[in-house]
Amino acid sequence: MKNPNIVIIGAGYGGIMTAVKLQKSLGANDANITLVNKHSYHYQTTWLHENAAGTLHHDRTRIAIKDVVDTSKVNFIQDTVTDIKAADKKVILEDGELAYDYLVIGLGFESATFGIPGLKEHAYTINSINSSRLIRQHIEYNFAKYNNEPEKQQKRLNIVVGGAGFTGIEFVGELANRIPELCKEYDVPRDKVRIINVEAAPTALPGFDPELVEYAMNSLEARGVEFKIGAMIKEVTENKLVFEKDEQREEIDTNTVVWAAGVRGNSLVEEAGFEANRGRIPVRKDLRPEGYDDVFIVGDCALIMNEETERPYPPTAQIAIQEAEHTAKNLARLVKGEDHLEPFKPNIQGTVASLGHNDAIGVVFDDKKLFGWSATAMKKVIDNRYLLKLGGLPLVLKKGKLNFFNF
Ligand SMILES: Cc1cc2nc3c(=O)[nH]c(=O)nc-3n(C[C@H](O)[C@H](O)[C@H](O)COP(=O)(O)OP(=O)(O)OC[C@H]3O[C@@H](n4cnc5c(N)ncnc54)[C@H](O)[C@@H]3O)c2cc1C
Repeated sequence: MKNPNIVIIGAGYGGIMTAVKLQKSLGANDANITLVNKHSYHYQTTWLHENAAGTLHHDRTRIAIKDVVDTSKVNFIQDTVTDIKAADKKVILEDGELAYDYLVIGLGFESATFGIPGLKEHAYTINSINSSRLIRQHIEYNFAKYNNEPEKQQKRLNIVVGGAGFTGIEFVGELANRIPELCKEYDVPRDKVRIINVEAAPTALPGFDPELVEYAMNSLEARGVEFKIGAMIKEVTENKLVFEKDEQREEIDTNTVVWAAGVRGNSLVEEAGFEANRGRIPVRKDLRPEGYDDVFIVGDCALIMNEETERPYPPTAQIAIQEAEHTAKNLARLVKGEDHLEPFKPNIQGTVASLGHNDAIGVVFDDKKLFGWSATAMKKVIDNRYLLKLGGLPLVLKKGKLNFFNF
């Protein structure tokens, strides 16, 4: 009997961890494993806000796939998936096609702009290494331009961040630390620069403990962040953002709007004909969609329900990694001829949001609240633990966050 073809598409947290776990549990003669990704590197999406603000170089965030994947066991193809033909068990790439016996979809997320006029065209998003690098360059360019025009333009120094959820808050935290450095570098007075965080919900960090929210807002406001809470963005143009708050329409002149308020699963899965809710495919307990016994979904493309709250789990790296480890085990069972698959249950170990490199908030071990240094240290432990799982100690030493006293 021929070895089954396992094709994994996307090398984000879900995809790459599936490949790394499979290469440990299966021998080269058990299955043909292929991993496909757009780039030659995996990136840690949870660090992209630092690359976008310019507080961390993008080379720290990206990891060459060949450094963590054993290419004698996993065939890595750098290409872009353009379609999935599930009825024919094929994945279509820009430069060819692949037949599969088992497919793992880990294509991740994209921004959701909810039809807000001008947002898609004019706002920047923190989605990838390249989109984050663009934000960094764009902000720096505007600082550089400010003192080189006959008439100084305030819109170059007004930075608006849409959304005070997890990503928005982490990004403004980095910006609050980066702006004083940029001011020094480009001879711009600090009091000329505005960081404005606009949030439609009645609170920043909706869903977080109110004490942590208050701590986060105080920390950020003390570093010059302005919040517009309960403010609905209505329109974005090339040099302006319009929002409505308390039934009043307001405008901010700005060249820089960073949209951090909405994500959805990769639209490719809908285009491929899977039943999906904003790019997220509802899956059974074994992470396979109804009607597709040869397809597993991991990461932000999977929609799994929290039975206690009867709501979907929010998409996170934490869940993506656990789904990948679980899927690798189930796939190894199938390859070895077992037909019983284990059900998946996420083990949520907590949530920690950074507020720049020197401050953070979080809840861990069910309900223990963390603030300041202890939360920052915990965030680094979480990040280093992931690197340890992915590439062992050498990867931790190469890419890890080891400076626990960086204040
Ligand atoms: C700034 C920020 C901070 C975050 N912080 C946290 C946090 O602290 N904790 C947490 O748990 N979660 C956090 N998240 C959420 C977390 O990053 C996502 O849930 C996670 O990245 C999802 O992993 P994934 O494997 O599904 O996909 P992704 O990480 O999005 O990776 C998808 C991969 O697929 C590739 N790909 C996409 N399309 C194609 C294609 N057509 N062909 C080939 N390859 C393709 C991409 O290049 C990428 O490598 C954060 C997100 C952001 C943006």
